[in-house]
Parts: sequence; C-alpha cells; structure tokens
Amino acid sequence: MSTWSEAGPRTVEQHAAAVAALLPPTGIETVPLAEASGRVLAEDLTAGVALPPFDNSAMDGYAVRAAELAGASEDAPREFPVAADVPAGRTDVPALEPGTVARIMTGAPVPEGADAIVPVERTDAGTERVRIGAAPEPGAFVRRAGEDTTAGAVLLTAGTVLGAPQIGLASAVGRPVLPVRRRPHVLVLSTGSELVAPGDPLEPGQIYESNGTMLAVAVREAGATAEQLSFVPDDVERFRAVLADRVSDGVDLVITSGGVSAGAYEVVKDAMTGHGVEFGKVAMQPGGPQGCGRLELGGATVAVATLPGNPVSALVSFEVFVRPALRAAMGHPAPGRPVVTARLAGELASPAGKRQFRRGVLDAATGTVGEIGSTGSHLIAALARADCLIDLSAETTSVADGQPVAVWLLEA
Ligand code: AMP
Ligand code: MG
Repeated sequence: MSTWSEAGPRTVEQHAAAVAALLPPTGIETVPLAEASGRVLAEDLTAGVALPPFDNSAMDGYAVRAAELAGASEDAPREFPVAADVPAGRTDVPALEPGTVARIMTGAPVPEGADAIVPVERTDAGTERVRIGAAPEPGAFVRRAGEDTTAGAVLLTAGTVLGAPQIGLASAVGRPVLPVRRRPHVLVLSTGSELVAPGDPLEPGQIYESNGTMLAVAVREAGATAEQLSFVPDDVERFRAVLADRVSDGVDLVITSGGVSAGAYEVVKDAMTGHGVEFGKVAMQPGGPQGCGRLELGGATVAVATLPGNPVSALVSFEVFVRPALRAAMGHPAPGRPVVTARLAGELASPAGKRQFRRGVLDAATGTVGEIGSTGSHLIAALARADCLIDLSAETTSVADGQPVAVWLLEA
C-alpha cells in the first residue's frame, strides 16, 4: 500500500472520507428538553398519550346535546338550565343530564352526553339559565381525543434534528427528556513560535494567535464541545507533552492548526509522522497541506485532523473536512452546509486540477454571488465579511460573469 504522499494529492472527497472515518457515531445520552435544541434524536419518539388526550372544547361556550337545539336560531332561541361549570383542568366533570347544558371553557373536558359546543357569542352568556340562539351540528367545536396523534404512534423518527416544534411535541406527549447523540469533544491546539495571545504586546516578527479561538468557536457552532489548549511553540517535545497531558478518553478529536506544510519547523508533522497520522496534499485551495489519522500516544490513540496554519486555510479546511464529520458523528441527516446555485457577479480564474473555495458574498435578492478579497489564505479580514464559499470544481479554469456557481451558505 502506497502512502498518501507517494500516491499523490487526495481529492477533497477522499480526504473528507478519511476524516469522517475517524469519527464514528457518538453514543446516546439523555438530555432535558430545554437542552435538546439543535441535537439529533437518537431513537424514535413514540406518543405516550393520545393528543388530545380527551375530547375537549375548542371554544369558550356551552356543552350541549345537538339534537335538543334542532331548529333553534337567533330569532328563536331556546333556554336551558346551566347544570355545571367546566373550566379547563376540571377532572371530575359530571355527565350532562338531558335538557341541561354545561358552561365550558376552551380545553376543558366535554361532559359525557354532550356532543357539541356552542360558542358563548351565540348565547346570552347566562350562568344559571342560558338562552342559546344556534343549532350546532353534532361534533361542532369538539376537539376529538386522538385526532392529532394516537397513543403509541411514532411521532418523530431517529435522526430528526430537534427544534422548537419538535421539543414542543415531546412536551405535549409528556416526555421530560429525550435521547440524543452525544456532542463530540474536540481539543483545539495551535502551533507556532510567532504566536502571541491577543491582548499581549507584539514584538516585531510576532502575530496575534487567531486560529485557536476561531476553530473552537466553529466547533461549538457545529454542535460539538471544544477545549482550547494554549498554543505551543514549534518544539516537538513540548508539543507531544502537551498532547499526552491533555488527551483523555473523553476526547473524540484533536484539531491542530499550523506546522504541516513544507517548511523547516513543521512541529505537527514532525511530532506525528510515523505515529499513526498521515500527511500529504489535497487538491484544493486554500487548504492544500493536510493530515489526519489516529495518533498513537502512550498506548492509546486519538483521532487527529491537522489543519494548515493560515487562518483562511484553517477555517475553510474546517468547513470542508471537520464540520461535516462532526455533524455526521452526531447523526445529522444533512451534515454539510446548504449548497445553492448563484450567478457569479464578475469573473474568476481558477487553477486546473484544484478545487477552490473562494470567499463570497451572496445577494439573495438577485441570486448573484461575488468574490470578496482574493485567493490569499492569510486574508482573514475578507473571510470575516464573507457569508458563503464559492465552490469551484477541480476542472474549472474560468467562470464568466453571470455563469452559475455552487455556493456553500455559511450562515445557515
Ligand atoms: P504554518 O503552517 O505553521 O507554516 O503557518 C502558516 C501561516 O499561518 C504562517 O503565516 C503562520 O504565522 C500562520 N499561522 C499559523 N498558526 C496560526 C494561528 N494559530 N493564528 C494565526 N496565524 C497562524
Ligand atoms: Mg507554524
């Protein structure tokens, strides 16, 4: 079997598959409903009760026997004694005797024997006796038990992403908690002796560290949890020591940035080559130099994805390789970003043989997308103003003004 570097560059799909293979589906945990938002349901949700659980009134009004009002109208009302008062929540509702009606509120149980509700607006609203000027059809304004769902029915299937309506439904059928896929836990580690923490003074030749917090936030936005390790200088021993110290059973993935290209001080590459992690090129731009594998660390192994150091390369690599893998591990039915087609505003040239992800701004009103900034993978200011990535296939060498391009929406 030839190694990645001998075999030549991987396609984006090949490397994406290699990273995804490092992250099997996470286990199932049970969370309170209020914490289930955005999570993926791990087992089918069945109804523990029917909805509605009992026949109840859809209106404030009077529960009646419809047959006793046949022929009644505004001009020819009928009068009945009000035999009971049934607010919502009453649990001891008496049956309705013939020749009587019950005052009833929305959501209250329909008394046995009653088969229709007359809204209060069609009556004189009496409390002892009431005049009713309407002839309801049987079943009028009665919300039938089980008309929304029957008990035992499957309401949501495993793999459903939980949002407000789904969580509302779970509450409605009496579930206080839901089984969801666990969030993967990710360690984020930046390397580079030139890096200084924001807030500290910069010496000439130093830059502020930006990838660590950016990637940790991106991990959390993807729905996983992140722990940011303070960045380490380009020193293989220090780097391995930091990892050995911090990697534990609870870590699903380590993401590094920097130290993987062809320079002389490539700490990530030097520390991991020969220990389960492969490095090579992916035919893409930005983000050519990549690595991934299961790093052997003192008897244990941990999944690692090594991203390039330039901030734009790091974040684009995260979007293309890591985010879909994390979301797939959490059971997301659509782990990738939504992709739409837009017409290019302006024209673009692109190298043959490399898939390019250019930073773009989409104008949804006109369905056009324009590039922001240029191809330089250090241009983080343009990245911060982009709301999409323009995905140019490896075969594409130029796109003319107005031509359709694929666009990954970053703000979905
Ligand atoms: P490297 O891959 O380590 O050679 O880094 C490539 C470029 O990205 C260099 O200009 C680095 O200074 C820069 N870089 C690497 N890591 C970071 C980081 N964590 N934050 C900001 N810039 C970085
Ligand atoms: Mg570096």
